[in-house]
Amino acid sequence: MQPDTKCVHAGYTPGNGEPRNIPIIQSTTFRYESGEAMGALFDLEAEGYFYTRLQNPTNDRVAAKIAALEGGTAAMLTASGQAANFYAVFNIASCGDHVIASSAIYGGTFNLFAVTMARMGIQFTFVDPDCSPAELEAAFRPNTKAVFGESIANPALTVLDFDKFAAAAHAHGVPLIVDNTFPTPIHCRPFEYGADIVTHSTTKYMDGHANAVGGAIVDSGKFDWTKYPDKFPGLCTPDESYHGVTYTQRFGLAGAYITKATAQLMRDFGSIPSPQNAYYLNIGLETLGLRMEKHCSNAQAVAKFLAAHPKVAWVRYPGLEGDPYHALAEKYMPQGTCGVISFGVKGGRAAAQTFMAGLKLASIATHVADAKTCVLHPASTTHRQMSDQQLEAAGVSPDLVRLSVGIEDPADLIEDVEQALAQV
Ligand SMILES: *Cc1c(COP(=O)(O)O)cnc(C)c1O
Repeated sequence: MQPDTKCVHAGYTPGNGEPRNIPIIQSTTFRYESGEAMGALFDLEAEGYFYTRLQNPTNDRVAAKIAALEGGTAAMLTASGQAANFYAVFNIASCGDHVIASSAIYGGTFNLFAVTMARMGIQFTFVDPDCSPAELEAAFRPNTKAVFGESIANPALTVLDFDKFAAAAHAHGVPLIVDNTFPTPIHCRPFEYGADIVTHSTTKYMDGHANAVGGAIVDSGKFDWTKYPDKFPGLCTPDESYHGVTYTQRFGLAGAYITKATAQLMRDFGSIPSPQNAYYLNIGLETLGLRMEKHCSNAQAVAKFLAAHPKVAWVRYPGLEGDPYHALAEKYMPQGTCGVISFGVKGGRAAAQTFMAGLKLASIATHVADAKTCVLHPASTTHRQMSDQQLEAAGVSPDLVRLSVGIEDPADLIEDVEQALAQV
């Protein structure tokens, strides 16, 4: 199936007389005829559902659709993108281990790694995504367990150099984990470029309507953990907390990583989405291909308009010719990138504020990647306590406006931006 067909059909095939939509199995528990029948499930001897914290049929069908879209062998849903990135890393790194991450990543993920996971004893080295292969090489340590980056970084809009990051990770016998939230598998499939694990904040384009917070983890099934049993004992030696199962032996490379994340991390941390939220996510997924095409063509038109406007100081959009990441975008996401643009208004902080106040259609929101165009001025909201100098140091200039272009008619969006710029 092609991606648009997978969006509609993958993960669930109703039988004769069964519902065409994925049923919402809103039940915590599942009934069995005998203790023995249920015991077999606990021993992982038989397949079946028993408690929704571990697995639920609605969630599993939606996860299977995302696995199909990414071209992976197994996937799981989580209650948020934060939970997805935490599980993805913690599944293979624990106290005393080290992970390399691109410095151009979502602020929430940066804090999760640099503060919270550091407190759990996992050390992170952040590297400039544009570093040389030698600089990347120098970041590795004997206890490095993974390399992490975002395919298109939120909000920096840098495009990951997959070849460089995958080659370095594999030369050191560790997987490359890629957060693919912004381009989605419609525009970029990281497994085709050497990534081993993909994560998502499904809250963004996958849901696409600002309905439900959620996340997902997908395994390519390609990384051979058994070649490095000393590095990945959690996957290659018996799990005493789960009936002595050795995940790679019992579930093979296709299933080991996700089964471990479910059986251990979801069991113990419990960030499971409700089946109702998984249902909302699936409705969004059905139109993902259509929407991504529209988000991108709209963003391209708005970015071009902004780039030609005399009151605009600069524009960053990887789809724009002349953007520093245009060549990488052409290489890894030739059909399009995402709908998010950042740009500066001449006149700095005050001019950006006047522009924002003048918008009529675009709403001011701390969100990106849904149907409705929204806009954020970090210097007067999320970063408002910082001085102009501190903002520059954080890579957020005082004039920076982040525009998440929705799926409205582009003429209306351009008209809105034009009249707001006229007020500056
Ligand atoms: C929003 C976002 C996250 C966090 O996801 P939540 O669903 O808000 O928990 C992680 N990564 C990226 C790239 C994001 O944009």
